[in-house]
Amino acid sequence: MGLKVWLDNKLVDEADARISVFDHGLLYGDGVFEGIRVYNRRIFELEVHIKRLFESAKAIRLVMPMTKDKLIGAVEKTTAANGIIDGYIRLLVTRGVGTLGLNPLICENGRLIIIADNIQLYPEELYEKGMKVVSATTVRNHPLAIPPQVKSLNYLNSILAKIEALDSDVPEAVLYNHEGYVAEATADNVFIVKDGVVYTPPVEAGALEGITRGIVFRLAKEEKLEVVEKNLTRFDLYVCDEFFLTGTAAEVIGIVEIDGRIIGDGRPGPITHLLRKKFFQYAHGKKS
Ligand code: PMP
Repeated sequence: MGLKVWLDNKLVDEADARISVFDHGLLYGDGVFEGIRVYNRRIFELEVHIKRLFESAKAIRLVMPMTKDKLIGAVEKTTAANGIIDGYIRLLVTRGVGTLGLNPLICENGRLIIIADNIQLYPEELYEKGMKVVSATTVRNHPLAIPPQVKSLNYLNSILAKIEALDSDVPEAVLYNHEGYVAEATADNVFIVKDGVVYTPPVEAGALEGITRGIVFRLAKEEKLEVVEKNLTRFDLYVCDEFFLTGTAAEVIGIVEIDGRIIGDGRPGPITHLLRKKFFQYAHGKKS
């Protein structure tokens, strides 16, 4: 039995969840999306994700086909209809059906798609041992071209960096911006720890304003850790004491090697461990 997928204004069978080949989401990557976790039937930070989705849509002048409240209801219904306990929701809005030309203003209504499914996670071993990454030669989209805050359907920039990672037999790559400063990983934000201080690049360096990033900020501050948004160079990554990525799917994952340089003692460090544990507790609704 297939999934129930939300299409526009109702749930349909997966086999009937079809989109036109003239949809500009397909023709031009013209649309926006969110990836959301479900922990123990609770949809994690749903309102924050919906807010970011609406802001992404506004930035690209995409008219949302549904109000925020109705959309929250649709996400909840889709999750419940598929019996998701721990899983992942992909919520996207395309520009809709248009012509073969670019003009988005003549597209019909934006199409809303909500898929709630199980999630393919990194193996637990990768969290214990830590992950290796490489620096991508692909430069992050210029922030004056496509604002990095917009979570658009066009991920070619990240995909090209991901190919570089896979070519090097590692799961992830770090992208740098046009000035050579660290922007982010292909679908995660970057953090380092140096001399007990936690650093992450500012959004203006070319990062998506990650929801996990924001939570980790708060959790670190609760632990009385100093958190600083600062431009980071490749050198900063090479010589840091700890290095980790944050994101909806990966949560908090330690990085132990970049471009052949070992980070710290080659294992995820104590602050990474602490923040991963605190994030887990927060996500599962437990007090730390
Ligand atoms: N950067 C990019 C490019 C992303 O796609 C994502 C989301 N997967 C993130 C960072 C992390 O954001 P969040 O914590 O909201 O998932």
